[in-house]
Amino acid sequence: MTVTPDRPTPTAAADSARPTIIDRFVSANREYAVTFQDGGMDARPVQKIAVVACMDARLDLFAALGLELGDAHVIRNAGGVVTDDTIRSLTISQRALGTRSIALIHHTGCGLLGLTEDFRRELELEVGQRPQWAVEAFVDLDGDVRQSMQRVRTSPFLLHTDDVRGFVFDVHTGLLREIK
Ligand SMILES: [Zn+2]
Repeated sequence: MTVTPDRPTPTAAADSARPTIIDRFVSANREYAVTFQDGGMDARPVQKIAVVACMDARLDLFAALGLELGDAHVIRNAGGVVTDDTIRSLTISQRALGTRSIALIHHTGCGLLGLTEDFRRELELEVGQRPQWAVEAFVDLDGDVRQSMQRVRTSPFLLHTDDVRGFVFDVHTGLLREIK
C-alpha cells in the first residue's frame, strides 16, 4: 500500500477509523431515541427534590436512590461541594422550578480526599494564573458533608432549608450512611 504525504499513515488511518467514546455516544443515542417515549413532563421535578452529589463515575444516582426520569434535579461537581455555582443551581431549582428538599451525597474513596490546596498553588506555578476557585479538598468526609449542609441551610437565597439531609455513599457496598 502506498502512502502519499498528505494522507495519514495506515496506522493513523486505523486509529482515526476506530470510534471514539463520543462516537459511541452518538450511535448509542440513535438506538435510545428509537424506543424513547416522551413522558410529557414539564421542567419541574416530580419529587420536588434536588440532589447535590460528587461527579464520581461509580455513583449511579438514579439507580442508587430509586429515582425515575423527571423526579429530581441532579447537580454534580468534583466532591459534591456546595459552591456558589451549586447555590445558583439550587436557587433556580427552588425558586423557578418548585423543588423543596435537598439531599447532599459525598462518597467513600473520593478523589478530593487525596488533594490539598497545594493543587491550586502548583497549578498557578504551572500556568502563571491563580484559579478563581478553591479546590475544596477535604480530609474529613463526614465533616465535609456537615459543612455542605450548613452552607445550604444558611444560604439567604433558598426558599426551603427545612428538609436538607446529607449522606456518604459507600462505593463498595452501595449503601448510604446518613450524616447528622
Ligand atoms: Zn468524589
